[in-house]
Amino acid sequence: MRVLRLALLVLFLVSSLVEAVEKPFNFNETPGKLPKEVIPSEYTIRIVPNLDNFTFAGRENVKLKVRKPVRQLVLNALELKIEAASVDGKEFPASAIKTDNEKELLTLTFPSELAAGDHALTLSFTGKINQQGQGLFYMRYQERGSGARKVMLGTQFEATDTRRFFPGWDEPAFRARFQLTAVVPENWLAVSNMPVESEQKAAGGKEVRFAPTPPMSSYLNVFVAGELDFIESRVGPTRIRVIATKGNAELGRYALDASAEILKYYNDYFGVPYPLPKLDQIALTGGFGGAMENWGGITYFESTLLFDQRSSSAETKQNIYEVIAHEVAHMWFGDLVTMAWWDNLWLNEGFASWMGSKCTAHFNPQWEVWLAREVPRDPTRRTGIAKEAAMEGDGRSTTHPIQQRVETEAEANSAFDDITYKKGQSFLRMLESFLGENVFRDGIRRYIAAHKYSNTTTADLWNALSEASNKSVGAIAVGWTEQPGFPVVKVNREAGGKVQLSQERFTVNFKNAPPLLWQIPLTYSVVGGTPATLLMTDKTASLENIPADRALKLNINGAGNYRVQYDDLSWQLLLKALPRLGVEDRVNLMSDAWAFVQAGRSSASLYFGLIEKLPASTDLAEREQMIEVIEFINRLLIDSPAREKFQQYARSLLRSTFETVGWQPKPGEAPIVRNLRASLIKAFGDLDDSDVIADCRKRFEKYVADPASLSPDLRAPVLAVVGRYADEKTWNKLHELGLKTTSSEEKQNYYNALASAIDPKLVKKTLAIALTDELPTSRAIFLVSRVARDSGHPDNAWEFAKANMKALLAKVDAAGENRYAASLFTFFSDGSRAGELRVYAKKNLPPATAPEIAKAVDEIQFRAEFRDRLVSQLHAFISSGAK
Ligand SMILES: [Zn+2]
Repeated sequence: MRVLRLALLVLFLVSSLVEAVEKPFNFNETPGKLPKEVIPSEYTIRIVPNLDNFTFAGRENVKLKVRKPVRQLVLNALELKIEAASVDGKEFPASAIKTDNEKELLTLTFPSELAAGDHALTLSFTGKINQQGQGLFYMRYQERGSGARKVMLGTQFEATDTRRFFPGWDEPAFRARFQLTAVVPENWLAVSNMPVESEQKAAGGKEVRFAPTPPMSSYLNVFVAGELDFIESRVGPTRIRVIATKGNAELGRYALDASAEILKYYNDYFGVPYPLPKLDQIALTGGFGGAMENWGGITYFESTLLFDQRSSSAETKQNIYEVIAHEVAHMWFGDLVTMAWWDNLWLNEGFASWMGSKCTAHFNPQWEVWLAREVPRDPTRRTGIAKEAAMEGDGRSTTHPIQQRVETEAEANSAFDDITYKKGQSFLRMLESFLGENVFRDGIRRYIAAHKYSNTTTADLWNALSEASNKSVGAIAVGWTEQPGFPVVKVNREAGGKVQLSQERFTVNFKNAPPLLWQIPLTYSVVGGTPATLLMTDKTASLENIPADRALKLNINGAGNYRVQYDDLSWQLLLKALPRLGVEDRVNLMSDAWAFVQAGRSSASLYFGLIEKLPASTDLAEREQMIEVIEFINRLLIDSPAREKFQQYARSLLRSTFETVGWQPKPGEAPIVRNLRASLIKAFGDLDDSDVIADCRKRFEKYVADPASLSPDLRAPVLAVVGRYADEKTWNKLHELGLKTTSSEEKQNYYNALASAIDPKLVKKTLAIALTDELPTSRAIFLVSRVARDSGHPDNAWEFAKANMKALLAKVDAAGENRYAASLFTFFSDGSRAGELRVYAKKNLPPATAPEIAKAVDEIQFRAEFRDRLVSQLHAFISSGAK
């Protein structure tokens, strides 16, 4: 095989290359509101919930280390009433106790200085049990089997809501031991981070005391209680359980087996075994939507944990595995070692996303994990491959660096976005493939060993990876984590086998973007040849001895977080070489081509020209990339005369794949073929295909009579298509089925179907459900977003939300608060809506929503401009094309 010789232009790094500013972790210099003179070391907390009026009473003792004399104790508390406070047994008078709800602080003022040394703080307080997933919250649900209405309790503390449960130093750098005691009804199971230490009868039920935790950040506490069951097993010394409401625990079997496999893998990968005596995966019936990595007691919305052989889809199964792998990775990265402050949230989330995907791919290579299309529970979030979703947002003017300044609680909660998770994940994947798997793992082992039970900054991670690799990782990383955006590498063939490369910032709908420069760990190969790497540190670089008649592919497997724009000659050679490229490379070319169309760098014919040349295949990722683009255009063209012609063209692109896959699952077929079948049915339904719509209706009739007649994989798409074209009678039937089922996954399928209805009369009926308690709060609010997206009537959804904003926001958790209103606008492609949103926000929304408003305004403006551009390009392309 021919080895390529590189000619790298080694120049001084030009001044626009950003310089690293971050320092390793230092407690005293860590940002935050709380003074650093007083450090808590141990909390003992006793909570007594009152289920009749959803309040609770609490009492806590906190051991304090006072580093130098202070006149005040300043700690966090929110929506708690402080009944009494004392230090070392001396009571504070009421006048010395101040709570500031705005700043979320509790201040206790001493009559004279408190001396340095050890002290004990005692507090009594009362608080409320919330409806939405913030602090301690309650969930109402129907019990499986009996259908009886029940209630359970859970907590959600990240980022800044532990202070709603008990007063404390609620910033991640204040690690301490926590020992919780709670009083619950006799027939309840109570769960926290650590195993139960003792249980005894108490007034109103039983008092459960848990063992104290190791030193950890306050946001990692957890408390769940209710009529719960569990199944269990062991991994070495660790007891692992899946806990769910009565009658559901056995549905956790798949999750339990997956957890065992994942835990063993991480015990080895991190080099430090899981440090707690137990690890619980806990299914919650509502309150919040995703999953939360509380140390030793991970919480999940139940349909992300429970798998029912008879009714769950292949997609659900894959999602469960990946979410568990993400959360369990946090037991090390996040819990054992925690970011010092929220500006480094990506250390937790980017890493867990990367590690979770790596682990999932290791055990399930058939799932094409790195290419999997994510379907977020919040329908206003970008779908698609994780990397692409991050790049879409990162190319806009509203993006931000992975590491961003965070000062307020609202900013901390807003940090949980695609850049933090997915760009973080994508950068780590690129870095791992550049440093090599083993070197990278050795660096991670060093990092965990050096910082366990402590906090870190990103600089600590780069230092560990630099030591392991002997490369200056910090210098490469800084462009990716401390500046926004990402590059496009342009490829130009020159005479004599020379290929000229140049980099520039890639943007969409962002005129006059400040130019930036990156150190790009490039990978490339002549198709069929050996892959090679090149660290591109300057604006230009070149490759030599590339045969003029051979295709050259950069960004092997699409593992790099950059785009590649080829000159025409190189592109034509690649089109000819398509059958010899792997699916990851083909999907990479498709994604880049579509991005160039969006950015106005190419016409739509670049993308569809590529699609038409793809070899026949039933590969999932490739077809889903097409479906993703087709869905986007189909929505953009609502009310456009161009839509029908586009739909016809789009159906012709997908037809042969659907004919190969067919309706009928074949014995022994790969799970991803089952996913593809579901995607195709949904796509044909959206594209108004009369045959598929008629087939879906037939299968729905049969399904109503005999649920087993429809494979679990096909339920979501068939119900969605039936719902989309539903009349009132069908809508009522779907609603009735949704009300009846006690399975979260099935319920979601039915209500998604209701939200798809395009008949405006039915749109109104669906929207009204969001105000009822038919759905858990976290799902009810997204019903409105779903209607905005799927019904084709974002105007109706917005009118409804505007009229009921207060009631809807009462159901939103902390992470969603800032984006809810803005997100409902993201399906408008009428430019005047941008102004409407600005005016509404100014009058009605807090300043913390500003970044989300800006993103929505940018999205509306982009869609309006893109829609006009696309209509003329498609017209020219489709009418001149063969189809
Ligand atoms: Zn996470």
